[in-house]
Amino acid sequence: MMRIAETRMETKATCPYCGVGCGVLIGHDGARITGVRGDPEHPANFGRLCTKGSTLHLSAGPDTRLLHPEYRSARGEARRRVGWEQAIEIAARRFAAVIAEHGPDAVAFYVSGQLLTEDYYVFNKAMKGLIGSNNIDTNSRLCMSSAVAAYKQTLGADAPPCAYEDFDHADVILIAGANPAYAHPVAFGRIEAARARRPQMKLIVVDPRRTDSAAAADLHLAILPGTDIWLFNAMLHVMVEEGLVDEAWVAAHTEGFEALRAHVRTVSPGRAAEVCGVAAEDIVTAARWWGRAPAALSLWCQGLNQSVQGTHNGTALIALSLATGRIGRPGCGPFSLTGQPNAMGGREVGGLANLLSAHRDLANPAHRAEVARLWGVDSVPAEPGLTAVELFRAAREGRVKAIWIACTNPAQSMPDQALVREALAACDFVVLQEAFRSTDTAPFADLMLPAATWGEKDGTVTNSERRISRVRPAVPAPGEARPDWRIACDFARALAPRIGKPQAARMFDYAGPQAIFAEHAASTIGRDLDIGGLDYGLLEAAGPQQWPFPAGAALADAAARARLFADGRFPTPSGRARFVVPAVAPGAAEVDARHPLHLTSGRLRDQWHGMSRSGKVARLHGHAGEPRIELHAGDLAAHGLADGELVRVTSRRGELVLPVAASADLRRGQAFVAMHWGRRVLNSAGVNLLFADDFDPFSKQPGLKHAAVRIERVALPWRMLLVRAERPGRSAAEEAEALSPWLERFAYASLSLAGRDTPAVVMRVAHDEPIPGDWLIALDALLGLDGDTVLRYEDPHRGVGKRMLIEDDRLVGLRLAGETAAAQWLIDAVVGQREALALRRWLLAPLAKPPLSAPAKGRVVCSCLGVGEADIAAGIAGGDRLEALQGRLGCGTACGSCVPEIRRMIAAAAA
Ligand code: SF4
Repeated sequence: MMRIAETRMETKATCPYCGVGCGVLIGHDGARITGVRGDPEHPANFGRLCTKGSTLHLSAGPDTRLLHPEYRSARGEARRRVGWEQAIEIAARRFAAVIAEHGPDAVAFYVSGQLLTEDYYVFNKAMKGLIGSNNIDTNSRLCMSSAVAAYKQTLGADAPPCAYEDFDHADVILIAGANPAYAHPVAFGRIEAARARRPQMKLIVVDPRRTDSAAAADLHLAILPGTDIWLFNAMLHVMVEEGLVDEAWVAAHTEGFEALRAHVRTVSPGRAAEVCGVAAEDIVTAARWWGRAPAALSLWCQGLNQSVQGTHNGTALIALSLATGRIGRPGCGPFSLTGQPNAMGGREVGGLANLLSAHRDLANPAHRAEVARLWGVDSVPAEPGLTAVELFRAAREGRVKAIWIACTNPAQSMPDQALVREALAACDFVVLQEAFRSTDTAPFADLMLPAATWGEKDGTVTNSERRISRVRPAVPAPGEARPDWRIACDFARALAPRIGKPQAARMFDYAGPQAIFAEHAASTIGRDLDIGGLDYGLLEAAGPQQWPFPAGAALADAAARARLFADGRFPTPSGRARFVVPAVAPGAAEVDARHPLHLTSGRLRDQWHGMSRSGKVARLHGHAGEPRIELHAGDLAAHGLADGELVRVTSRRGELVLPVAASADLRRGQAFVAMHWGRRVLNSAGVNLLFADDFDPFSKQPGLKHAAVRIERVALPWRMLLVRAERPGRSAAEEAEALSPWLERFAYASLSLAGRDTPAVVMRVAHDEPIPGDWLIALDALLGLDGDTVLRYEDPHRGVGKRMLIEDDRLVGLRLAGETAAAQWLIDAVVGQREALALRRWLLAPLAKPPLSAPAKGRVVCSCLGVGEADIAAGIAGGDRLEALQGRLGCGTACGSCVPEIRRMIAAAAA
């Protein structure tokens, strides 16, 4: 820890959001987190952070946190506060009872890629080493398991071979199924910086949408969803035909190429073009750029992984690297971008239903014996456990009766939400170990255990480039929250004697996370990810290190460890990498007359997963505040819809109501919904209720990216808007939390935050009948809009009722029911702290335009500086380019996450 001034200190940690794994310096006074900045010494980001990372300190308050254990003994009861000792005793007693009656496979852990490696390690050991089941799976199953399976099928091990510095050496970068400008902004910033230094570098982006990443590309292949294998096979076809395959390298270091060669000969660019919906010439161009480049690098993420053919999406992409010998050299290789911050750490400790510690194979008796010996147990079970979808299916069928969920939110993030909710309701006992008290999964929990979170935790994480970083606590966890590893160990020690294994309690007698890491490191010795040479002392003294780092490894050799397989030897029985002929021949997704639109999902730039953390930060709502489904303007017109109208979106699995928005990013026949909006901010479970739970046969990863849907206008004439600025003792996030249970009463409703210095909650409602009077009374009371000083307007004949709360000449709260024409300028007035006296006579009027000259800022593009789309567009219209805009407005000068969008706006204006 560095002491900056008498009361201000900085502690090194990492960002808890994406798998780039940026280093952060947490500013604090020992009790409260007061700021955050990028760690200039961290090799992932060298000081840079994106919008999410740079606002972490704003998410760190105790509001919305779970502060003490809670328990209910019967469904339907409210949970009541209990002590930790009692909570652990209850958990152990109820798990032991299920195990005694139904066996160890009747219980399960469902954990998270956001846990630290040490947390993951003890959960895995508790399930496989103590309970005697492999029923531990994780939300990483929804994230990276297809990449894992693809690496193992081709390279022989779950070993991403590249490093971020490869961006600086690549002549071609092919990004497929990823939008790093939004999902991995600091990595994309490094790519853009490398292109600026070497303008001859080519960027190819494969994505059905014209994302900011795609807009920045030299070649955008806007394929139809689900046709990636066709594209990659056709590219290989061109390389085979044009002699761009490195035949000597393939002969020396691989096997299975002839079978794939024969297969791709049938996949011509013309044939693939028809399936993929792109020009054959563009496929040829992409293949030639790749095949002729001295160094070619591919990046991929959920667009390939979250597919029912996710594994072979990956193997088809990896084949491009192997066929051209572009692996193990600077600027070369297949490089999976990890979605979650520590999905990799979880894979390293084997914390999934089909893995064993340190990349050992569950099906290998010798590996199981090794792990049993390391843990000091007789055996570990051979039968693979239930993977995420299988686990919830089993729970619904009554085969899993007790489930422990840690640091994840399956009631939002899993596909087929109806099934997941039935499964959680059917379980006899649900434990939720969480930092935040009101996630979508919380209502299902019988026992809630408060967990420490970012800024409070001690351990390690591994990022996309296999780099292990120390994560240090800056402040104590609030209330009674405890570190995840400690909760897991306390539970395991309490459970051991209850299941007849009292001696096994000692397996969890760790003095702290350092001891757990040492045990994990020892378990890796001799394996491909050997970190026998790493410990906390070295990581703190020398900084983050990539694996492998065996005992005796020299820090000076870090460059040699940057990438794997430089010698052309692979961890397969033959030592050769393998080509895989795809077992599936996917065409475009299954749209039909009833469901004619391809719906895909993805991330917003400024939000993370279920928004339990990022959703607390008002400024992170400015870029895309309101939930919506995006469509091509032509499809809106064909449906007779205008921007902002409400539609019912129906798939074969479910339906939800959303506003529509025209998007120039989409082709005709396609639609897009962001993944983040769930039941806490919407009157439905969000986009995941539309997706089926079908999964890839190898990775068991569900196809969360793609569904066939239809849309229909829905007439909901009764509108309402509620706005409340945060007040002393009640943050905007807490206001939203209080309003959230109301959402489900309405035919459509959404919650978001707005503003920067004056955060406010905004609730938008549309209903099929007038909002009942008693609901309005209750909502007014909830938001403090019921006092004598509140301005009021009532027109009961028209069902119109308005409330305006003014304090210190500032509008701080309002309710518009029945007529909401003034919604936007009133929201702007609240968050802009405009003087209410000047506005007073218009506040209750049905005025769509702001009454005084207050230029609308529009959507916020630069979250750091609060610069709106309207100001940037005006600057561009006046001839400004990026540097001028940065100089005049400041946009894009802080974290830089908005720079791709500003460049795109400039290019669009020029076009
Ligand atoms: S890119 Fe952004 S979200 Fe990802 S680790 Fe870095 S700061 Fe965090």
